[in-house]
Amino acid sequence: MALDRKQTPNDLNAFWMPFTANRQFKKSPRMFVAAKDMHYTTADGRQVLDGTAGLWCCNAGHCRPKITEAIQKQAAELDYAPAFQMGHPSAFELANRIIDIAPKGIEHVFYTNSGSESVETALKLAIAYHRAKGQGTRTRLIGRERGYHGVNFGGISVGGIVNNRKFFGTLLAGVDHLPHTHLPDQNAFTRGQPEHGANLADDLERIVALHGPETIAAVIVEPMAGSTGVLMPPKGYLEKLRAITKKHGILLIFDEVITGFGRLGAPFAAQYYDVVPDMMTTAKGLTNGVIPMGAVLTSAEVHDAFMQGPEHMIELFHGYTYSGNPIASAAGIATLETYKEEGLFERAAELAPYWEDALHSLKGVRHVIDIRNSGLIGAVELEPIAGEPTKRAFAAFLAAYDKGILIRTTGDIIAMSPPLIISKAQIDELIGTLGDVLKALD
Ligand code: PMP
Repeated sequence: MALDRKQTPNDLNAFWMPFTANRQFKKSPRMFVAAKDMHYTTADGRQVLDGTAGLWCCNAGHCRPKITEAIQKQAAELDYAPAFQMGHPSAFELANRIIDIAPKGIEHVFYTNSGSESVETALKLAIAYHRAKGQGTRTRLIGRERGYHGVNFGGISVGGIVNNRKFFGTLLAGVDHLPHTHLPDQNAFTRGQPEHGANLADDLERIVALHGPETIAAVIVEPMAGSTGVLMPPKGYLEKLRAITKKHGILLIFDEVITGFGRLGAPFAAQYYDVVPDMMTTAKGLTNGVIPMGAVLTSAEVHDAFMQGPEHMIELFHGYTYSGNPIASAAGIATLETYKEEGLFERAAELAPYWEDALHSLKGVRHVIDIRNSGLIGAVELEPIAGEPTKRAFAAFLAAYDKGILIRTTGDIIAMSPPLIISKAQIDELIGTLGDVLKALD
């Protein structure tokens, strides 16, 4: 008998779910069985408006026929090709299309399968780049408090989330962290980039002075920190980081796993903020979240440093079995075509003021202590219940789901990043429902 995939399985025990309150979930599971455009369908037949683009990734909305068909066609034609010493056209075509929309100066693409792998790849590239240039002492890496760079050992070492680090023993040595840029006393309820905090980038000079510039390989930051609560860079902050890294020969890596592919109303945050790093890590929106794929984008300078030895020699001892996988590449090409044909990055920019006004209409609602936004991303921060951090926002998440909207919470912060196809009426529905949820919270 064919398996009825729409039916919730009776036994949920075997699947150990990631970043999930497993015991709570398995008592009252929330199952999606289908999706279309802006909506998920739940196992009990309800429609849920997607306020988060899945996990910040389905920027073109769900089950877009062009992407589905491209995947089906590629799977039937060339399902897999060896990733090393062999090629296939789709991976090259996708790389060209990514570079077409990348900031000037970014010219090469190294494929991975996720944001976490993109981060590991970029960190390794940074160290190897300096080695290739005869500066093997440059091995130190600098991240930032409240940074999220995935879950592998490099990523949690440079990342700034204590819970993601503290259970896992010895991490990468030689890592420092810049201070985070969240200054609620000065910047609460700022629309767009906050005024205060550019000087926090000067801490990089302190770290450089402490260790010596000749020991430091790279600085990695999310241009806009997503997972720890949607923290916009203060005005002038990224420019300072760029100037200080350049001055000391340190590579600057932007982790654009969330901000890449239109989230802010430009292809990448590098263009939105007009600051171009040496490398950018991406994933998520690259394939509309549909097939796992990531990519590290690099400058010609970084790439060319590796291209010096004899021609028959491998230039980089790094890569994945699924790097540039044909089906993922086909999904990527169809995704970028969809963004372009539908003008979705421009649409995000056009909708941004409406989104901003809608979000900030929640100012004054009970428990709301800050609201932040840029492009089509936003956060509503709630006053935590004393002694029970995260409880209030989690209650909001559950109530929102019951009322038919999907939001995401991190700590006591509600984060939203809808697909870029969202309509004004759907923005009203999302924010209106969230307002109702918040007003009813304890
Ligand atoms: N970097 C950033 C900035 C992210 O937001 C994420 C995922 N939210 C990652 C890395 C990790 O990506 P993945 O879950 O695909 O490994």
